[in-house]
Amino acid sequence: MNEKVIKLKKELGYNISQNENLSRYSWFNLGGPAKILFKPKNKEEIIKFLNYLEDKKEIFCLGAGSNTLFRDGGFKGVIIKLSSKFSFINLLDNNILEVGAATLDKTLSNYAAKNGLGGLEFLSCIPGSIGGAIVMNSGCYGDEISNHLISLKGLDFKGKEIEIDRNQIEFFYRGTSLPRDLIILSAKFKCNNEKKENINNKINKYIAQKKKAQPSQVKTCGSTFKNPEKLKAWKLIKDSGCSEITVGKASISKKHSNFFINDGGASSGDIEKLIKTVQNKVLEKYKVNLDLEIKLIGESK
Ligand SMILES: Cc1cc2nc3c(=O)[nH]c(=O)nc-3n(C[C@H](O)[C@H](O)[C@H](O)COP(=O)(O)OP(=O)(O)OC[C@H]3O[C@@H](n4cnc5c(N)ncnc54)[C@H](O)[C@@H]3O)c2cc1C
Repeated sequence: MNEKVIKLKKELGYNISQNENLSRYSWFNLGGPAKILFKPKNKEEIIKFLNYLEDKKEIFCLGAGSNTLFRDGGFKGVIIKLSSKFSFINLLDNNILEVGAATLDKTLSNYAAKNGLGGLEFLSCIPGSIGGAIVMNSGCYGDEISNHLISLKGLDFKGKEIEIDRNQIEFFYRGTSLPRDLIILSAKFKCNNEKKENINNKINKYIAQKKKAQPSQVKTCGSTFKNPEKLKAWKLIKDSGCSEITVGKASISKKHSNFFINDGGASSGDIEKLIKTVQNKVLEKYKVNLDLEIKLIGESK
């Protein structure tokens, strides 16, 4: 490990660990160790850390890990996981919310509901953080985060502060034009005045719909593949006869065929093999390539 980075840990008490297992940072509960895992308390710590870091090629900024599968061989670079200090919400004038990037989507949705601010109800059933939601342009039930974003603040991997307006970003289905070397620190969202009762009804409706359609209490990162244009990935998987396929302890949810599951004791390699098998079957039967929605990070063993 970079000697200078060790100094930050020893002399300045930065929360830096070496070779920590990443499995507890992913909703799959899988993955090998990270060479360096850094949990900054504030922006200044990140800037100093980045200045000390010699090799900036392999940095991965992690949110809540609900869309990330870490491979069994771990990550040979630096994982930056914003600490809970980056979880905050400030209500500004004109129904604008300033939100820390580590804030959970559900926390923001609940806060907006309590304050009679409508528009963010769909976030109540996405289990990630605001940073992850922006990078993934997450959404459901006809809405997505790009519809509400005003601007974001962050740092590039050199530690330079940046502010980006919504209209400078191209958003598409589960992705954006944002640069790869970006650590989102906070974002502003526009809401509208709405009766609390209407907001809560909408949230309850969405949560009930999700419960009906998706598995809960399982180790998964949600939809494994993006929906190909005009098609549904779950239907292609089901109709190509993949529903019952298992690899080791990796399986496919009976409730939603695009949700792959670690049944306990799977390896990331098992999930990856399941992904490949399903991709091949769907390609063979429908001549459709399924692209990953989940992020596959690190090295295989
Ligand atoms: C049960 C379940 C249901 C789901 N349902 C939905 C759904 O309905 N709709 C939907 O869109 N998704 C859904 N997902 C997927 C997932 O929750 C979203 O993609 C979510 O927005 C990811 O957020 P995260 O913080 O967990 O991101 P992570 O998995 O931690 O990271 C995802 C990406 O975001 C980047 N990132 C995270 N934080 C930052 C930051 N601060 N700065 C820069 N980059 C950052 C990472 O580098 C990575 O590229 C579901 C997942 C599960 C497990």
